[in-house]
Amino acid sequence: MQYRSTRGNGQLCSGAEAIRSGIAADGGLFVPLKMPIVNMSWANKPPTYDKLAAELLGELLPDYTQEELTRCAAAAYADNFDNPDIAPLVRVGSRSILELWHGPTSAFKDMALQIMPRLLTLALEKTGESSDILILVATSGDTGKAALEGFKDVQGTSILIFYPSEGVSEVQRRQMVTQEGANVGVVAVKGNFDDAQTGVKQIFADSAIREMLAQKHWKLSSANSINWGRLAPQIAYYFSAYYALYGKGTIQAGNLVNFSVPTGNFGNILAGYYAKQMGLPVGRLICASNENNVLTDFLRTGVYDRNRPFHQTISPSMDILISSNLERLLYHTTQGDTERIRSWMTQLNSQGRYEVDTETLSEIKKNFWAEWVSETEARQTIQQVWEQEKYLLDPHTAVAWKAAATYEMKTLDDAPLVVLSTASPFKFADSVLLAIGDVGAAAEKEPLDLLVRLSEKTGWRIPAGLSELASKALRHKQICKVEGMPEAVGSFIDTVSSVR
Ligand SMILES: *Cc1c(COP(=O)(O)O)cnc(C)c1O
Repeated sequence: MQYRSTRGNGQLCSGAEAIRSGIAADGGLFVPLKMPIVNMSWANKPPTYDKLAAELLGELLPDYTQEELTRCAAAAYADNFDNPDIAPLVRVGSRSILELWHGPTSAFKDMALQIMPRLLTLALEKTGESSDILILVATSGDTGKAALEGFKDVQGTSILIFYPSEGVSEVQRRQMVTQEGANVGVVAVKGNFDDAQTGVKQIFADSAIREMLAQKHWKLSSANSINWGRLAPQIAYYFSAYYALYGKGTIQAGNLVNFSVPTGNFGNILAGYYAKQMGLPVGRLICASNENNVLTDFLRTGVYDRNRPFHQTISPSMDILISSNLERLLYHTTQGDTERIRSWMTQLNSQGRYEVDTETLSEIKKNFWAEWVSETEARQTIQQVWEQEKYLLDPHTAVAWKAAATYEMKTLDDAPLVVLSTASPFKFADSVLLAIGDVGAAAEKEPLDLLVRLSEKTGWRIPAGLSELASKALRHKQICKVEGMPEAVGSFIDTVSSVR
């Protein structure tokens, strides 16, 4: 199986090369030339999560041996997750919820970032890369911690995170500055997320820094969500959800199942599309957005227009106006018409807007349905589901739950529906407490006390990774200005080089 760029330039490459490079040289994203079709096994007990992931990755990354993938998956999906099912499916009312937050950082990013570093290390071997790899990440919250946990003590790599001093929640900050591991660094950048992001982009574009790193045998890479190594592992949980529904007798083999996905960069939901291409009986993929509803408009009208106000919401991981992975869907929907993709992406860059033809739109609508949910609706949903079902939704999952309800009401489609849950409610304890009617929570000074408060109020258990935070040492106290970021990279390299 080979990969190419959505924008059509450059050679075909292997999975390992796609994972090592992250983004194609022409600015496009790597896509598989042809999706393999898998045969699902109905007779036996469903495979364990790690076996299933290894099997599916074997289809997608044939340049890795099955033994390598089995080893990677077994290490990635083990007791670092606090549930033996890894991604348990629970029944809530008339729907099912797929909990993707049982990993070490309590958000769905772990599903990919626990295995991606292992795939990257192998990719370096396979492509003959002899330098050590420095992963640079600018984070607005969840990705930073999940990447730290994923890359911690992974051979041949070091990871340096820049987070904005204004713009991550206190829980998210604590998660990062208490990070352990000999190859990790965390630095606060004075400013907001854009400042940190701009600084990282400048470092990637700076030939003097690359030269300095090359002399010390280092190469830069990134772990962001457009890397194929993050997308491919996410396909597995759509299959595992389907097997779980079958195992519970909710469906017969072959029945269609709908999925509602809280969407930001379009990575999670695109994995569902790929699962469908690989033969999983998926009905509709419901693209659920918050007030940053650029995708809702696009999937309804064919016009993608990022020229609109940016809203800060209680579901911050979906506060995105450029959903990068959509480019991959456009590629597949147009049967790889790279010329059209290039023209749309050029327009997006220069005018912030493009419009697809009606044929492309109607093709997309066969698989996707879109809805957006207001802040008020999201809060009401958290409260209603808590009161009626005694189930706690985090604000991102609440958006997907509400969108699913609207979908069923408007379409009368009564196929089984799985709502993807992307974060533990404890990660957003402040919003959740307010939504379920604890007005006193707003006055709480110590953010970690909110976790205890939410646990006492609901009887739900605080995830281990979050409850440990209060007692963990603050290890990373460095703070710099955007102009100081290159220097921070230099001193980080010297520190990690000296301990190895
Ligand atoms: C990253 C994230 C999302 C959005 O996922 P995409 O793949 O970017 O669409 C949703 N919810 C949570 C909690 C996240 O961390």
